[in-house]
Amino acid sequence: LSTDPMTAPRPIRLGMVGGGQGAFIGAVHRIAARLDGEFALVAGAFSSDAERSAASGAEIGIDPARAYADFGAMAEAEAERDDGIEAVAIVTPNHLHFSPAKTFLESGIHVICEKPLTAKLEDALELQRVAAATGRVFVLTHNYTGYPVIRQARAMVAAGELGPLRVVQVEYAQDWLTEAVETAGSKQAEWRVDPDKAGAGGALGDIGSHAFNLLTFVTGLTLDSVAADLSAFVPGRRLDDNDHLLLRFTGGAKGMLWASQIAPGHENGLRLRVYGEKGGLEWAQENPNQLWFTPFGEPKRLITRGGATTVPAAQRVTRVPAGHPEGYLEGFATIYREAASAIRAVAEGRPIPPDVMFPTVEDGVEAMRFIDAAVRSSSDDSRWTKLG
Ligand code: NAD
Repeated sequence: LSTDPMTAPRPIRLGMVGGGQGAFIGAVHRIAARLDGEFALVAGAFSSDAERSAASGAEIGIDPARAYADFGAMAEAEAERDDGIEAVAIVTPNHLHFSPAKTFLESGIHVICEKPLTAKLEDALELQRVAAATGRVFVLTHNYTGYPVIRQARAMVAAGELGPLRVVQVEYAQDWLTEAVETAGSKQAEWRVDPDKAGAGGALGDIGSHAFNLLTFVTGLTLDSVAADLSAFVPGRRLDDNDHLLLRFTGGAKGMLWASQIAPGHENGLRLRVYGEKGGLEWAQENPNQLWFTPFGEPKRLITRGGATTVPAAQRVTRVPAGHPEGYLEGFATIYREAASAIRAVAEGRPIPPDVMFPTVEDGVEAMRFIDAAVRSSSDDSRWTKLG
């Protein structure tokens, strides 16, 4: 491992909002936060239900006095303790990102927040303002940006190995909402199909935001306008479960984005293809350690994580030797390790080291502008719509 927990500095004290019993992503954050020994989880408001929060805290060994009934009480109490939390992970449904994020930032606590940034664009803009005013670190967990091979792809595009970009194809396909599981007791599905909780985008906010973030992270392109056709195929569903989008980027590159949660056979089918004047790159999340590089007129090259042509930006986030599988949890942990580097730098009054990379509140705002434009376009018969 590139960081030895035995010699790492004192762990950063972490709190959590959400992630109680029965929740999905909270447990992934706890693993990611632990992997390098950079964080110690010491407090939480794990549920909106006080008893469930206490029971969830007890299950993972949190001091009962620090398993709070609500996040407001947690922010107040923790800000007053000498050993209070220094950072908080927010892993609640989308409509419950804004209020805790604002509260903890204003209490001087760094924020690690789930995507999409908020349920509403205006809340995202307000959060951007608060994050800038407080000077706290804001990390948005678009975890796929932590994969070594994705860092490799980004470095290759930036170095001009593909030439000026022309075409980007990105897709994120799943099948778990093929039937109306939201009416059959799926806790994860219930809030995701409710516009008051998920926001204006259904599949678009849930997984389209990951696809959009990945494409901008790798290509560095700026989206100018979209023509979107968002559909809800499952009867009675109020938010999109399948999305087709055409994309126009500043400078002339074009793209397509497909997000679907009703595509039988697809589990976490996030896939990116990028083509420039000199060559292309192809990557798929379910085989995350391999990247195809296709320089035009030459044989295809398979670049492997930790393999012969790996660039420094990919090497510094590579954990185990080439050929051993590395994936979702390690990529997530890399975002936490980057967060720790940024938090330590800010605490010590140093600039954040230039090689440290993580999605920020600005990336979250960009994705919210993308979702907003796509929803406006789709409700206007897929008319070309500029980002607001
Ligand atoms: P979930 O429904 O499984 O869990 C949500 C948790 O939040 C539950 O424990 C619930 O009790 C808790 N909660 C609700 N209201 C609360 C409140 N007021 N105070 C404290 N806790 C409260 O949802 P999930 O699937 O874990 O998704 C949570 C967030 O994570 C969403 O924003 C989602 O988009 C995001 N997510 C990201 C990824 C990723 O790959 N980065 C994957 C899945 C989910």
